[in-house]
Amino acid sequence: MTAHHEPGGDEADHRPLVELVDVSKVYGEITALRGATVTIQAGELAGIVGPSGSGKSTMLNMIGTLDRPSGGTVRIDGYDVAALSDRQLSALRARTIGFVFQQFHLTAGIPVLDNVADGLIYSGVPPRERLDLAEEALLRVGLGHRLGHRPHELSGGEQQRVAIARAVAGGPDLLLADEPTGNLDSTSGAGVMALLRELHAAGTTVVVITHDRDIAASLPRQVEMLDGRVVADSARTREPAC
Ligand code: ADP
Repeated sequence: MTAHHEPGGDEADHRPLVELVDVSKVYGEITALRGATVTIQAGELAGIVGPSGSGKSTMLNMIGTLDRPSGGTVRIDGYDVAALSDRQLSALRARTIGFVFQQFHLTAGIPVLDNVADGLIYSGVPPRERLDLAEEALLRVGLGHRLGHRPHELSGGEQQRVAIARAVAGGPDLLLADEPTGNLDSTSGAGVMALLRELHAAGTTVVVITHDRDIAASLPRQVEMLDGRVVADSARTREPAC
């Protein structure tokens, strides 16, 4: 694999982590994305916002390398996903991206420590170390006192914190959160957003996909979607004309 940047070089903190150039996605007769172009730099905290059906989930699938575009270019951490085999793409995803979903997606009946440790199965980390990293991540999200609890013994907000711990345990560059507060009451939702801000402040690039305009407005950057297009991007107004 060849990348456009030198890993660990001087540019490491100001490199484009996500680059979508004129990306389209067609499902049968439906065009879910129509020429979306967006760049997210390492270190950003950005929201992708828009109403239902505007293409946000499709955008998540593109940024998260869960699906390949029908047209255009997707580069993640400098790697053009079109140039990678499925195996290389899975490896890039496991190394670079942590996912958080609206529905938490925790495994019922097993302790949260194992839930988080199991998230590292594909990362190549040995089992013993997985537990250490899982404990560290749960401490980071304020759940050090809940390691042995099962998911059903936790509140929704706590379950989402576990999901966030699982997403960040391997130290991904990018945390991709899809409607992370969608299943939470407003107090728990605010707590989860505060946690995402903390993780961002500690160096993780965070992208939040949301239909909630208040949440989007609370983020430093908003990329607005409508009908499969990026119709506004608050970062573009700050970019120098070229
Ligand atoms: P959002 O997440 O903003 O609600 P989506 O990306 O899910 O938007 O959907 C954008 C459009 O593409 C919608 O019209 C949706 O019905 C359609 N779409 C999304 N995924 C598929 C799919 N797998 N098959 C067919 N149509 C899809």
